[in-house]
Amino acid sequence: MKKILVTGGAGFIGSHLCERLLNEGNEVICLDNFFTGSKKNVIHLLNRPYFELIRHDITMPYFVEVDEIYNLACPASPIHYQHNAIKTIKTSVMGAINMLGLAKRIKAKVLQASTSEVYGDPIVHPQTEDYWGNCNPIGKRSCYDEGKRCAESLFVNYYHQNNVRIKIARIFNTYGPGMSANDGRVVSNFIVQALKDEDITIFGNGNQTRSFQYVDDLVEALIRLMNTDDSVIGPVNIGNPNEFTILELAEQILKITNSKSKIIHLPLPEDDPSQRQPNISLAKKLLNNWEPKVELNNGLLKTIEYFKNIK
Ligand code: NAD
Ligand code: UDP
Repeated sequence: MKKILVTGGAGFIGSHLCERLLNEGNEVICLDNFFTGSKKNVIHLLNRPYFELIRHDITMPYFVEVDEIYNLACPASPIHYQHNAIKTIKTSVMGAINMLGLAKRIKAKVLQASTSEVYGDPIVHPQTEDYWGNCNPIGKRSCYDEGKRCAESLFVNYYHQNNVRIKIARIFNTYGPGMSANDGRVVSNFIVQALKDEDITIFGNGNQTRSFQYVDDLVEALIRLMNTDDSVIGPVNIGNPNEFTILELAEQILKITNSKSKIIHLPLPEDDPSQRQPNISLAKKLLNNWEPKVELNNGLLKTIEYFKNIK
């Protein structure tokens, strides 16, 4: 049995990860400030003897003895991370310093939830890990992109300077049950709108693309990455390479939900990336032939079912 700390564990991805780690027989400490996460996401785990939920903000140091740290704490939806941009930067940068400092002190392995956003509005397509990205350092998204880029730099420098055992996962757009109805990201927005027969809000013309990964595929890859030997530090792209336009996503959700909603177009937010698709060759090689298993249609069916039940 390992003792594992999951920061951001009451969020969408974190709550799935906590559950999976518990089911595998580990002791899990879930740390969250409940900014975008909620106790509701982990309420079903509270009676498990090896689960602990702690309210804490990772911009402040936290000390505990664990074997592994998954650092997921950070708002991930543009509306939430732009709500308090300075706080978002502090969460990524000071949070990384605090978790790396802890890992160094207790000799734990530490995994950073980085993001495809480090590629910005990518000119190289699909994105490979050696691409340095195309980010606007002073734009609306920079609090998130640059915060995560700085965190990656901190991780590799703690590895080189202090031999901290690190892993960096570059996560691409992930969706699934457990997303909050007011999360603001595209999959949850469109599903909630379709189920209520409200207008589907496409930002811009809808020709921009994303590649959507179901949460179970991501959790599997994160655990496999944590379990790689110490020479594997990353970054490693983790995503589903099937690429769709936002218009195609809207049409698919309308069809599955049999909704009466109509599509409307709203202005495209500043610096909205025009395309995104992971090259996952490295993940396949390093993570024991890992590849995503859940097709968009099946993942959407499960996610729609979830949103129907919380309506
Ligand atoms: P989420 O917003 O549901 O979860 C983030 C969690 O972190 C929430 O529970 C929130 O309350 C907590 N948190 C935020 N700031 C904190 C702080 N200062 N101290 C303690 N807790 C804090 O988002 P998610 O989709 O579950 O994303 C989890 C991680 O994965 C994030 O780091 C995100 O950047 C990364 N990621 C997610 C995606 C995606 O598509 N979901 C893509 C790329 C990267
Ligand atoms: N988007 C949209 N309507 C919405 C929410 C998002 O058209 O109600 C678009 C958004 O402009 C972007 C894509 O969907 O082009 C993905 O947005 P999301 O916020 O989910 O993720 P990110 O932009 O961070 O990849």
